[in-house]
Amino acid sequence: MCTTNIFSRSTASHKKKIAVVGGGLSGIISVSCLLEEECFEPICFEKSGEYEGTWRYKEESSEGMASIMPTTISYHSKEIGALSTFPPKKEYTNFMRHHELLNYVTEYANFRNVIKYIQHNSEVL
Ligand SMILES: Cc1cc2nc3c(=O)[nH]c(=O)nc-3n(C[C@H](O)[C@H](O)[C@H](O)COP(=O)(O)OP(=O)(O)OC[C@H]3O[C@@H](n4cnc5c(N)ncnc54)[C@H](O)[C@@H]3O)c2cc1C
Repeated sequence: MCTTNIFSRSTASHKKKIAVVGGGLSGIISVSCLLEEECFEPICFEKSGEYEGTWRYKEESSEGMASIMPTTISYHSKEIGALSTFPPKKEYTNFMRHHELLNYVTEYANFRNVIKYIQHNSEVL
């Protein structure tokens, strides 16, 4: 919860800038939570041209990046692993396949308007 007094109102110009490193699941949720507080202006630095980190399946592996397999599924059920404010669709399998998890988090990111805060191709050194 942000504290507001006469010297720090939650206007755009008074929002604290916060850097989030990485646009994976953690980064997306962090940006969403920061936006919820209404007194932060997050910017998420993502080194790749995509977002959603581990859960975005790629044919080619790249140096320093974790990779999932075409057969990867989440090992916890969607009821246990769900974001508490955004339940997964009924159509998704109980133990979501990687593309379902990717869709789910993308739906969440779009719903929370997070994508525009991600600055791609920006590696934090
Ligand atoms: C089958 C499976 C099941 C899993 N189950 C669980 C589970 O039950 N619970 C759990 O906690 N975890 C689980 N995980 C781990 C899962 O990977 C993480 O929960 C989650 O994806 C981590 O998200 P993240 O954003 O922290 O990291 P990542 O998904 O790795 O994303 C990191 C992002 O940061 C970017 N990045 C990295 N370095 C930099 C830099 N220097 N500058 C800018 N950008 C950078 C990367 O490009 C990437 O997009 C599971 C993983 C798999 C494959």
